[in-house]
Amino acid sequence: MITRTDTIRQTPFWQRELAESILNIDDLLRYIHLDRADTDISDIAHEEFSLRIPIAYADRIKKSDPDDPLLRQILPLCAEMQSVPGFNHDPVADQQSVVAQGLLQKYHGRALIITTGACAIHCRYCFRRHFPYNASHAAVSDWSGALDYLRDNPLISEVILSGGDPLTLSDTRLSKLVQKIEAIPHIKTLRIHSRIPVVLPSRICDKLLNWIGKSRLNIVMVIHCNHAQEIDFSVIDALQSLKNAGVTLLNQSVLLAGINNTADALQKLSEVLFSAGVLPYYLHLLDPVAGAAHFDVGKPQAKNLITSLQARLPGYLVPRLVQEIAGEPSKTPVISGFMG
Ligand SMILES: *Cc1c(COP(=O)(O)O)cnc(C)c1O
Ligand code: SF4
Repeated sequence: MITRTDTIRQTPFWQRELAESILNIDDLLRYIHLDRADTDISDIAHEEFSLRIPIAYADRIKKSDPDDPLLRQILPLCAEMQSVPGFNHDPVADQQSVVAQGLLQKYHGRALIITTGACAIHCRYCFRRHFPYNASHAAVSDWSGALDYLRDNPLISEVILSGGDPLTLSDTRLSKLVQKIEAIPHIKTLRIHSRIPVVLPSRICDKLLNWIGKSRLNIVMVIHCNHAQEIDFSVIDALQSLKNAGVTLLNQSVLLAGINNTADALQKLSEVLFSAGVLPYYLHLLDPVAGAAHFDVGKPQAKNLITSLQARLPGYLVPRLVQEIAGEPSKTPVISGFMG
């Protein structure tokens, strides 16, 4: 018989931490010492895409500062309710790239599994905030639709686990999925797209490191960090243990007005990432998703920022500025130094 204490003991620490996340506006305001009057909060925005933030991340928000760059990423604001031309509900045409249940293929050689709709944190600028996850993720029918497609397509050598955030799934489920992927001989690389090493570092637990360490696949983890202040000692520890398990660590960021759109912020981010063992990969222009227009940084400013970074940093610490244009064969580089 499984007793209540057994169940509690068996629940991994990170799952308990995830369950204790801050899920409503008043709890958050109390935690960071702000009043409603200090901010431009919108309950309707919260109803549309609910607030969610792990305590581990809330602890890195500066108290009593409505402009804190971490707070601005997660706070539901009135500005989200403005309808802005060009900002829509499926800006990157994900729904047109679905090739099997929960599997997207846009680019040659790699396919992306939507493993889950869940995330550990809700980022207000997220391009998937309107994606009908629950109907589209691949876990339905035990991943079989996605796995059949991968088996039948020998030109695919890399599988990307995405979501939502794949690391919200238990290690039991993830390792079973990964075993099935490992059994497909033409798959060489497993890539995990996750914001969790940054927002819930306790998730990088021994069980996870164990199945990662045993895999025959090349493992790449692309974390998602937008600001140097997101990286504290617990995050550095988590990244170090992934690195020790043989994982290649890269970072993608989104260029966000009021958060990281200065050369100083981006330089610091690259430097802090590098000292934590992570190389910058992409800096994405914001996808034009409805509700996120107030985060938009224009292309001319984005190009100037990259030019400044090039003058300040070694080439390997300058992220590639890209945007996603529906129907293109790759992410599209936004090149500085040219007109247009
Ligand atoms: C972004 C993305 C990828 C990964 O592209 P890379 O340039 O290899 O990082 C793969 N598949 C889909 C559907 C994507 O949106
Ligand atoms: S963690 Fe990633 S997928 Fe989830 S809400 Fe944030 S940006 Fe979107």
